Amino acid sequence: MATASGPPVYLDNNATTRPADEVVEAMLPYLRERWGNPSSIHTFGSRVGRAVDDARERIARHLGASGPGEIVFTSGGTESDNAAIRGALALGAREGKRHVVTTAVEHPAVRSLLRGLESPEAPDRVEVTWLPVTGGGDIRYGVGGLRAAIRPDTALVSVMWANNETGVVFPIAEIAAACEEAGALLHVDAVQAAGKVPIDLERLPGIDLLALSGHKLHGPKGIGILFVRRGFHLPALVAGGHQERGRRAGTENVPGIAGLAAAFDLCARSLAEDARRTARLRDDLERRVLDAVPGAVRNGAADRRLPGTSSLRFPDQDGEALVLDLARRGISTSSGSACTSGSLEPSHVLLAMGVRPRDALGSLRLSLSRETTEEEVSLAAEAVVASVRRLRGLAAAPGARTRMVLE
Ligand code: PLP
Repeated sequence: MATASGPPVYLDNNATTRPADEVVEAMLPYLRERWGNPSSIHTFGSRVGRAVDDARERIARHLGASGPGEIVFTSGGTESDNAAIRGALALGAREGKRHVVTTAVEHPAVRSLLRGLESPEAPDRVEVTWLPVTGGGDIRYGVGGLRAAIRPDTALVSVMWANNETGVVFPIAEIAAACEEAGALLHVDAVQAAGKVPIDLERLPGIDLLALSGHKLHGPKGIGILFVRRGFHLPALVAGGHQERGRRAGTENVPGIAGLAAAFDLCARSLAEDARRTARLRDDLERRVLDAVPGAVRNGAADRRLPGTSSLRFPDQDGEALVLDLARRGISTSSGSACTSGSLEPSHVLLAMGVRPRDALGSLRLSLSRETTEEEVSLAAEAVVASVRRLRGLAAAPGARTRMVLE
């Protein structure tokens, strides 16, 4: 749907990004003429196999990996996170280690898995320490607190690089150093960080496992990476053929792999410049909304955030109604709630930051990308202000909730 004064505005880039034109171009040959199986030794297969090798090498270079052998292709961020945690726990179990340190604000790809593994019904039950966070979204007792939570039986520390809801960036270099010093394995969910902040794994030897996803950096969906530090013998994630050196069986998603490498090339070319530009646009958008809407507040600290993420809350507002009203105006955003069993639950991230459940439900996430323009930001700022005013007006009227839902 177009905005009243222009084309649709997409500000939900933390959910997914538009596959860049050059990404699609890089994929097309592997959907058309180069459709061979990369494991086949005949001409159809071998040239495709070379393309997979080339993509793996380029991605390894972009990440500062010590070689292509550290890159395992998966189906996306969720699989990579699951594989890292399950793999580390399987290794830990051999030494009687069943404890995990993580934070209260992880993505469901980590959180749901660990919640299941710590439940009394879980067959190989693990113990999880959930580190609390501050009102600004940072680890409450800092890296020292994380270090203190590591025990002799800790099999893994699992933390996200950047939060998908608030954009808050954890001090990964210090966390990696602390884990290295403590001799603890570290898994980092870098799904939201990739393509937005520099990732140089050569300088972060404390990171053993790192998860990435193609569709968050203008690449395709259904392709991800698990970086596995050399010397870490990950048990097979998916058993079957010899693909991915036996670590993840199954015929490779070659178009996805080619597209992902192109996405990395694209983002690396102008990462710092894109980050500066996007942060400026985000700050402008935020300022315009916060200045115009009494009571509106930012969720999370203003500094140490992903350049394109803004999470705002409007007390006594219904975030879902706001998202729907904005959608009618041609602006795509998301709210600070998750649909669980058909009912709206406030975001666990905002609750962990001490936001009251009712206020968390009045949150809105606006996420920009390297493609977002100044004009889009202007349209979005005007629309958010207009939507909040309209909904506040409706809410003040008798029978308000029913009307908002019906409209
Ligand atoms: N981790 C984080 C921080 C995310 O934001 C997401 C997706 O939103 C995921 C993991 C899951 O990635 P995927 O959608 O590729 O499974």
